[in-house]
Parts: sequence; structure tokens; C-alpha cells
Amino acid sequence: MERERRADESSNRPRVLLVDLNNHARYPTLAVGQMAAVLRAGEVRVRLVSPLAVGVRGAVRDRRARPWGLLDERLRWWTAKTAVPGVQGLRKRLATRRGPSSAEAIERSVRQLRAALLDPPDVVLLSVYFLYADVVRALLVLCVEAGIPVLAGGPGFTDPEAVGEWLAMEGMSGVFAGECEPVLVHLVELAAKGEDLSGVPGCMTPGRSAFQVARPLGDLDQLPYPDYDGFPWELYPTRVVTMLTGRGCGWGVCTFCSDVLTSNGRTFRTRSLEHVLGELAHQSERHGVRLFHFSDLKLNSNVELWRGLLQHFQATVPGAQWTCSVHLGGQGDQGLSFEDLKQAREAGLVRITTGVESGSQELLNRMAKGVRVSELSRFVSDARRADISVRVTMFTGYPGEGSSDLDASTRFLAQHSEDLDRVHLSRFSIQVGAPITHRIQGTPEAYPDLAVQAGASRGESLPHTDARMDRWRYRRAIGRLLGEVHRINRRPLRATARALEGAM
Ligand code: SF4
Repeated sequence: MERERRADESSNRPRVLLVDLNNHARYPTLAVGQMAAVLRAGEVRVRLVSPLAVGVRGAVRDRRARPWGLLDERLRWWTAKTAVPGVQGLRKRLATRRGPSSAEAIERSVRQLRAALLDPPDVVLLSVYFLYADVVRALLVLCVEAGIPVLAGGPGFTDPEAVGEWLAMEGMSGVFAGECEPVLVHLVELAAKGEDLSGVPGCMTPGRSAFQVARPLGDLDQLPYPDYDGFPWELYPTRVVTMLTGRGCGWGVCTFCSDVLTSNGRTFRTRSLEHVLGELAHQSERHGVRLFHFSDLKLNSNVELWRGLLQHFQATVPGAQWTCSVHLGGQGDQGLSFEDLKQAREAGLVRITTGVESGSQELLNRMAKGVRVSELSRFVSDARRADISVRVTMFTGYPGEGSSDLDASTRFLAQHSEDLDRVHLSRFSIQVGAPITHRIQGTPEAYPDLAVQAGASRGESLPHTDARMDRWRYRRAIGRLLGEVHRINRRPLRATARALEGAM
């Protein structure tokens, strides 16, 4: 050990501090684990800091609704989109008191980084979503003082304006857009030597380079398995590893969706079944894990791989339980018949989620979801019959939505109340780069209810108000939908799925 330590200390390989700002409260962040693995394979010395370790709360998904939650939700729905002057500003001020960008979270993150910089790395890498901008500004101050280059990257850096805003932050050495794995080691080697980074594909530097996005990685089997050493495992309530079998979505045309544009989403590519099974076995052995969360946008994009997983999962990790997202729609076999779902349950699938989005067929058609409400009905009933806990996502506020569409969603939920364990209801957001966003920006007169707020900072979505929220009939319909969602979400999650509560 001592000999290894001395060899390590004498190494002239770069030392990198990875900051996991995309802090998840239930499991290690896959993108950060993937970067750690690539860097360590390139003999770069990696340390990891996770704000979760110093009490910054990470994201938890879809907990059981609290008794007073309905009132809270109604208020949130109205205040989020109303055009009534002053309400938005008040909401923003309240939001800064909690969450990952609250003053307390920033203070804790700064203290953590200050301590980590006592043993200074050569480069700091930040894996971020845009909502962490305030935290990043605070961390940059420390890195500037210490003279350490900082690189940021994340799935959202595909918007030139947002990249421009981040490059303008004092102390930001570079912003990376796209899939960094092929060039990551080279990038940190250059950064550690203080050399120009603007020639690295996908890397933009202040004042030097035009907007560019690194090309999607072709062969995903080239990547090492993500490395989750150094994450605060003791703070996760259950030991879960998140997996990704492919990047992108085999459907990829929903008009509201920007996931298919982010660094994980552009073009659909898949790993081989052998590579995925190999990782399942590896992570299980390395971290003593039998719980897995698949973060694929649509795990049934490649039906052959999906069926291969169902066939081999239990032989690979006996007793494993897992959760995933699927999408119904498109042509041909989706791998989601009742027989498939029964086999999936036997393979350990205890929770499944799918995007229902709306109970209105007309809206689904406009969204290009490629699915009929009747198919969604059949699926949720079948999944429940197969003893799989079902979660669906829906949202309100799509352009053209009226109170009758909202009522169709309410009816869908009422009809499937016994089939569903959780409903994640969100509000339409104008996602940068999504097809509907281009239409809204190109012909705003065709969307008179939606007003994009001028001067707001660019993020993954464009802040907007929605005049429908100030109409009584529409708001009443929202209230009925929220009531149905609340009734379902008040119930405890079924026992077989509880180990993965909060993971999706
Ligand atoms: S199925 Fe899901 S991930 Fe794929 S395009 Fe539609 S919303 Fe996006």
C-alpha cells in the first residue's frame, strides 16, 4: 500500500476534483461516475465531492403526497404561470430560500470546496444543470483565488445563449457541450498545463471559440463501466445503482421534448446486451447492490435488448429489483404486451414509468406522442395485473389545451386510479431547442396565451406566463386534475416497490 501511495504521489498525472452538483439523493450520479471511470482509465487522479455529504439536499422524486399537499399544489400551479404582476417576483424570492441554490446550500457547498482545495487539484470539473448557476458562481470565486482552472459541462449545454452566459462567469475556463468521454483525458491534461482548450471538439472558452457541440459517441461499448467509488453511499437510504443501456430515444419526435437534444439524447445508440449485463454483475459485486434504476429515456427503444434483459437479469444478479421508463407508440412490436410485462416482473421489474402526458387524444396527436389513449389504458392495466407498480407522467399547459382536455386527463386518472401508484404532474415548460419552442418563438402571435419573459436568464427552459391560468374555467379544471392526482399520490407505494421509492 505504502509503495502504491508513494508511486501515486510521485506521478505527474493531472489531479482532478469532480464536483457532483447534479446531486441525487438516492443514488450516485451516472454522468459523474462515467467521467470518473474514463479519467481513472486514463490514469488521471480523481477525487469526488458531493454536496449531499455536507447536507445539501439532493433531488428526490415523487414522494407520497402530504395531507395538505393539494392546497400547496393549487397555489403553486397558479403562482407559477399567472400573469398577475408581482406574483412571479415573490415566488422567485421564496424559491431562493430552499432548494439547491438556496443561500444555505451555497454556503455548505462553498465550505466543502474550500476544504477540498486545501489539497489543491490541477483542475476542477463541474457537472451541472443550469439551476446551479448561483452555486457555481460562488465556487468559481474560490477557484480563481486558488488559481485552479474550472470546466463545466452538463446535458443542457446545447443552447448557444446559455453557454455564452456561463462562459461570461468570472473564472470559468471552459464549457463543454456534448459527450465528453472521448476527449476528457486530453482536456484535463491541457487544462492542468494551462494550455488553450478551444481546439478540443465540444469545448468552448471565454472569447475564443464559436459555439460547437461534440459529436455523439458511436460505440458505447468502448466506455468503461461507471465508477461509483467515493460517492457518499452511507447517505443513500437504499443502495441503488443507476444504469444506462443507450443514449437517446428510439422515438425522438415528441414536440415538447428537449431530452432528445441534450448530450445524452442526440441520436439513438445502444450498448450491447453483454456489456449491460457485464456492468450489472460488476456494480452488484463492487457495491453490494441489488437495486437498479435504468435512466434510459425509453428502455424499450431497442426491443431486442429489452427482451434480453428480461431473459437474463435474474441469472446475472439473483434477487435484483429494478425500475425503468418505457414509451408506448410508434410502429410495430414495443415489447410491452401483457406477456412481456409478466416476464419483466419475474425479471425483477417492480416499478415502471411511462409518459401519458394527457388523457386527450387530440393533444397527444399534437404532441406527436405516437400513441392512442386506449393503448395507454391497456398498458397501465396490464402492468398492474402483472404486479408492477405503475407511475405515469403528465403535464398541463401545452399550447391549445383547454378545460375539456384537462378533464380528459382527470377521467383517465379516475378510470385507472387503482392501476396507478404515482402520478408525476408537471407544468408545460418551453424547453430550449424543442420543436414546439421553435414554433412559439417563430410565430408568437399563434400562441397568444403564452408570454416568454424578456430578460430572464437562459436555462434549460424559457420562463413564461400563461394567461389561461387567470381564467376561472381553466383553473377549475386544473383543480379537478390536481385533486385526482392527489388522491392517487396520497396512497403509500405498494410494498414490493418501496425499496425504489424516490428513485423515479
Ligand atoms: S418518448 Fe420520451 S424521450 Fe422520447 S421523444 Fe418522446 S418525450 Fe422525449
